[in-house]
Amino acid sequence: MYDIIIVGAGPAGLTAAIYARRASKKVLVLEAKSYGGQIINTLDIANYPVEAHISGFEFATKLYNQAKDLGTEFIFEKVTNINDKEHEKEVVTTKNTYKAKAVILATGADNRKLGLDNEEELVGKGVSYCATCDGAFYKNKNVAVVGGGNTALEDALYLTDIASKVYLIHRRDEFRGEDTTVSLLKEKDNIEFIYNSNVTKLNANDRLESIEVTDKDGKTKTIEVSGIFVAVGRIPENENFRRLINLDDKGYVIAEEDCNTNVEGIFVAGDNRKKEVRQLVTATSDGAVAATNAIKYINNLK
Ligand code: NAP
Repeated sequence: MYDIIIVGAGPAGLTAAIYARRASKKVLVLEAKSYGGQIINTLDIANYPVEAHISGFEFATKLYNQAKDLGTEFIFEKVTNINDKEHEKEVVTTKNTYKAKAVILATGADNRKLGLDNEEELVGKGVSYCATCDGAFYKNKNVAVVGGGNTALEDALYLTDIASKVYLIHRRDEFRGEDTTVSLLKEKDNIEFIYNSNVTKLNANDRLESIEVTDKDGKTKTIEVSGIFVAVGRIPENENFRRLINLDDKGYVIAEEDCNTNVEGIFVAGDNRKKEVRQLVTATSDGAVAATNAIKYINNLK
């Protein structure tokens, strides 16, 4: 029986573990993939207090080691369900069931897909969701980036230094991401902006060879690219908890800044929570708040 089980080893979950261990609670972190979450794919973090520049991998590794050195237990299994037995929560994974007095859901978010027929089978063969991870494979090749948020803009900027040509395809004529990044992109001579358009087909022969792009009037054109970087937002990883936890219409856990969910003893932290600002600093902040409230909840059980 653990005091607190934390689901997810991203910045929110790892920060929660640090706070809970420093309060001498018995803590288990369950993680489906590897530690670090989305931040592991960021080349340079430049907006986190104290460190002017640090890679996402170094940041995540330092945080993981800090939590581990404090005595946090880690098990790498995917959580599929949670049962609420009032003062005892059962956390079910693909392999085992673990018990705790309190649970913190810090599952973060996964990449939204375009939903095209062969998209999944072309991952690693031309389709990518991470420019900083896979961009180097496309040196001097033509690539496309899809999306209009900060991720798409930053991915496109990053790729202009690697690829011979970058097509930035957005479904509207106005970007959601920051104007400063748009200005930097406009200074590049190897980028072409394609507005009011969607990617409607991936043409491949083992690997991606070209994409079909359809504009708002239904006119299509084919563009030859070796790679397509999909940056159309993220989907919170809360579906396995829907039966128990109240989610909003986009699938985010409904909770205020206190990180309390509708179930007593179950808390939420990070990008899977309904909130305005999803940044590294707000994820770690949520981790601290959720752990503090989980500790209070456990201490009041006695
Ligand atoms: P986002 O801001 O939600 O943007 C997603 C983009 O994809 C939007 O432009 C959206 O179009 C488009 N889109 C959504 N579904 C689509 C579909 N099915 N087909 C085509 N296009 C689609 O996501 P994000 O860029 O990943 O950013 C997530 C959060 O992280 C944001 O808050 C962002 O500011 C933040 N972020 C910050 C930084 C930074 O501070 N340096 C860097 C990266 C991300 P519409 O605009 O038409 O809705």
